[in-house]
Amino acid sequence: MDLKELYQEIILDHGKNPRNLRKTENFNKDAKGHNPLCGDNVHIYLKLNENKKVEDISFEGHGCAISMASASIMTDLVKGKEEAEVKEIVNDFLDMIKEKEELQNKILNEDEKTKLMCLSGVKQYPMRVKCATLSWHTLTSAIDDFQKIVNTES
Ligand code: ZN
Repeated sequence: MDLKELYQEIILDHGKNPRNLRKTENFNKDAKGHNPLCGDNVHIYLKLNENKKVEDISFEGHGCAISMASASIMTDLVKGKEEAEVKEIVNDFLDMIKEKEELQNKILNEDEKTKLMCLSGVKQYPMRVKCATLSWHTLTSAIDDFQKIVNTES
């Protein structure tokens, strides 16, 4: 199996069986994301504990396989991380999707990085990039209490 097939397999798996697709009980941060170009909707729920660690993260929503797989992989990878680490992972992912070849962060292990890199295939399709980054922008907004609703087109 080559890398491209492996990446596709991971996306299909997460798209079909999204992890953390539920609503966190007692969440203390949340935000909604909307990508009107594709019709993707996500609602991210986050529970940060007193040490600013992600005790739980989940999402509800519907959309294309890329948007659902991305939200699924993201929630899987940031659970248990500290807020500062989460931000570093988010920024690293967004840089990679935009321009960089590789992920730079030292927080995720190789397996985890492979899961993220499987979304790198959307790079050459600007419309798909919005699908892949929707939940990530929404997570940032939730953490920073920036916007309750993130819209990719505004
Ligand atoms: Zn989409």
